[in-house]
Amino acid sequence: MTELGWGFIGASIWARRYLVPAVRATPGAHPVGVFSTSTERGEEFARTCGLSRSYDSLGALLEDADLAAVYISTTNDLHATQAIAAARAGKHVLCEKPLAVTVEDAQRMQAACAEAGVVLATDHHLRGAPTITAMRRLIEQGAIGEVVAARVFFSSSLPEDMRTWRLTRPEAGGGVALDLTVHSADTIRYLLDDEIVEVTALTASDGLGRGIVEDSIMGVMRTSRGPLVCFHDSFTVPHAGNGVEVHGTAGSLIARDVLMAEPVGEVYLRRGDEITPIEIERRWPLYEHAVARFMEAARGEGQPLTSGEDGVASLAIARAALESAERRRPVAPAAVR
Ligand code: NDP
Repeated sequence: MTELGWGFIGASIWARRYLVPAVRATPGAHPVGVFSTSTERGEEFARTCGLSRSYDSLGALLEDADLAAVYISTTNDLHATQAIAAARAGKHVLCEKPLAVTVEDAQRMQAACAEAGVVLATDHHLRGAPTITAMRRLIEQGAIGEVVAARVFFSSSLPEDMRTWRLTRPEAGGGVALDLTVHSADTIRYLLDDEIVEVTALTASDGLGRGIVEDSIMGVMRTSRGPLVCFHDSFTVPHAGNGVEVHGTAGSLIARDVLMAEPVGEVYLRRGDEITPIEIERRWPLYEHAVARFMEAARGEGQPLTSGEDGVASLAIARAALESAERRRPVAPAAVR
């Protein structure tokens, strides 16, 4: 098996907590080095994460011939420039969600990766959650009949260590829509195997957002086949948990606490008063699954868990939700206009 070296662009919480360990745990992948805008932070990250190199510039990382892939987890405003530079240097790109701050930038990333012949994947890891895949399989098998409606809520209290740029820097892609609505949108697109064609939403910003960024968003999406999807994403609801519900003519699938970094949560099939727990095979840590699928794609042997195109679509839906809230009218996501 060809060994693929990985470079980490961004000395972030998520790289440290999940992606460096996931790359290390994946056969054929090995984490090599990190680029941070702060030498001190980069060196500390490399030391504590067991990486052998800390680069003092993005160019130095991209020139490293030992790297075949990069994971980008900087603030969202930097993803596009960094991904395009990585593609031009011939590196495969696993980029955090949202792919970018604007749909146009995300499309430029997609074009650059296609032109360079490298993989672009979006880190919507929830597609790999065993609960979500079980729901999708049951829907495909007709367990709930014809889908008539869905609901997703991704509401929690933003963890203390993440109360930085997400709350203070709208220009860096702060705010709950680009943080969580992109996940909600991707999960619904995947579960229903359908596109979102229209979004209506309202936002609030008087909690943690302090009038600077929206900290809550509620709304309705319309799918191309017709069913409506109710969504609520928030940084300011500490006790709601999260969940996804897909309602059909023959039953409802109800999932609780499944929108997480770990393969946790429960799914029930409800028909009238009868509630049946769905047995879930919790096989894989979610980010390891995403990295393994990315590796297959990089070797030309498969598709990434979530593609660049999917990342453009989820961003377009979140942007449509924000535009709808601002203009007080329904908006079609740019990708389907
Ligand atoms: P962090 O806030 O940890 O890091 C983002 C950037 O902030 C880093 O690249 C770093 O810059 C800079 N930074 C880190 N620490 C400091 C500090 N002490 N002082 C000044 N700057 C600092 O980001 P997250 O890990 O929360 O998020 C990174 C990306 O990952 C985002 O795109 C986010 O949307 C995504 N994400 C995805 C999740 C998912 O579910 N898939 C979950 C969480 C995040 P430098 O690199 O230059 O050192």
